[in-house]
Amino acid sequence: MGEQRQSKRLDPMSTRNTDWFWEEAAEGRLSIQKCTQCGHLHHPPRPVCPDCHCLELAPTQMSGRGTVYSRIQVHYPAPIGFDEPPVIALIDLEEGGVRLISNIVDATLDEIATDAPVVVDFEKTAKGKTLPVFRLASKGVGA
Ligand SMILES: [Zn+2]
Repeated sequence: MGEQRQSKRLDPMSTRNTDWFWEEAAEGRLSIQKCTQCGHLHHPPRPVCPDCHCLELAPTQMSGRGTVYSRIQVHYPAPIGFDEPPVIALIDLEEGGVRLISNIVDATLDEIATDAPVVVDFEKTAKGKTLPVFRLASKGVGA
């Protein structure tokens, strides 16, 4: 994992249920909650498995690879913390069962096809927190 991209973005909202997610990101890991009983992945983080009601959910590192389910570009109202209108996407992780909302960076909307392979990367907010973002696998991380 190379040096994280710097941005003007705002810090994420976090709670005691989600602090670990952002701490993992700060270490360069995309981790998702996995139920220790039924094995299903769940996101966003929660205290109880919605499938089997187990209380033990363990952060589990993902490969960081996925595909684009859908994407949009937000022009108006102008989002705070972005120099360019950001691309917001639904990303299906290759592990299955989890669809994340994130950004695709360093690509125009026209370059991002549905089902395009993407890989996770990480970006620092203005105050130094770390956010997972994605980029087209065809462009590579750190390109
Ligand atoms: Zn479960």
